Amino acid sequence: MEYSPTTERCTKCIMPKSAAVVRFDAQGVCSHCTNHQSFLFKGETELIRLLDRHRKPEREFDCIVNISGGRDSSYTLLKLVKDYGMRVLAVNYHNPFVDEQAARNIQRMVNTLGVKLVQFRFANRIHEKALKDILTVWNRRPSAAMVPAICVGCKIIWPRILRIAKEYRIRCIVNGGNPYEYTTFKKELLGVHQNTGLTRSYFLNAKGLVKEALQNLSYTNPRRFPIMAKAFLFSNQYSLGSRILGSGIEKIDLFHYIPWEENDVLGRIRNELGWEPPAGISSTWRFDCRLSHLKDLMYLSTIGVTEKDDFYSKMVRESRMTRDQALERIAQENTIHTGIIEDVLQQIGMKSSDARKLLRRLPAANSFTADLDR
Ligand SMILES: [Zn+2]
Repeated sequence: MEYSPTTERCTKCIMPKSAAVVRFDAQGVCSHCTNHQSFLFKGETELIRLLDRHRKPEREFDCIVNISGGRDSSYTLLKLVKDYGMRVLAVNYHNPFVDEQAARNIQRMVNTLGVKLVQFRFANRIHEKALKDILTVWNRRPSAAMVPAICVGCKIIWPRILRIAKEYRIRCIVNGGNPYEYTTFKKELLGVHQNTGLTRSYFLNAKGLVKEALQNLSYTNPRRFPIMAKAFLFSNQYSLGSRILGSGIEKIDLFHYIPWEENDVLGRIRNELGWEPPAGISSTWRFDCRLSHLKDLMYLSTIGVTEKDDFYSKMVRESRMTRDQALERIAQENTIHTGIIEDVLQQIGMKSSDARKLLRRLPAANSFTADLDR
């Protein structure tokens, strides 16, 4: 099945006109392009100044780097160890949905760099059970705003990471989050606009979630409350719970200081770490967790857009690639890997009627291809 160029998109970036949350002006330019503010990097000098503060010869490690086996965290580990000479403790959450190649990459890179790795996992299939539960509820009344809730397992890892930092007396955690991939439409779905400040975003986000829960009351079941509350409080390194529990621990995002250059990232991790892309998947972005394919299906079926549409649109707005290059990437990469989705649904023991219902949501649109023949 081939990509069709007939999908109408923003005339500046590549945001599909079918994207339910995006507004378009008379010239066909999307609201994200109109309101865009370029990301300002803080610079490598500032990064090195911060890192220098954490070099403590009397301790075994200077910092933690969280790795997933994906490209950006692998590059972050490489930079911190080789370029900045930091003594790194690599930490990995052994996600039950990790792609096999990502898992191999992790072992290979820590061996190559001679870095100690601490891996942790949750007992009693907590992650799998939480996913099955949330997905079943979502499937009753699909809403794009609640798609991130399926990442509930990875939203509760911060207490563990902070505990590891404390055990090893480490005061600095470095992450490879890429500012170009902070999806704008996800926030807007919960009523948080692009340029809203942090405190107000937090409030609006909570308000949006309450509104969503009132529209699908299954989310408010008291049985689900503890894990949902924990996921809300610890959803990332900057959320309220992580700030309180991790006070005194500095969190650094590498790509807030130095620009993310795809060719440099991929070139270096391949050559210097023996990193390999996934087999049979067209994109090297976000393949490390197999739930990314499920999320694509959920977004496409609710608002007609994938995270890749948003990511490459942002790359165009930031002048990191041309619109034509972005269209080419989308043609190659906007594939819904239904085979992987089926494997995931089987892994969590989703009822087959629910699984069929979910897969049938895949719209008969032509802006993506599906590997239905797998
Ligand atoms: Zn646009």
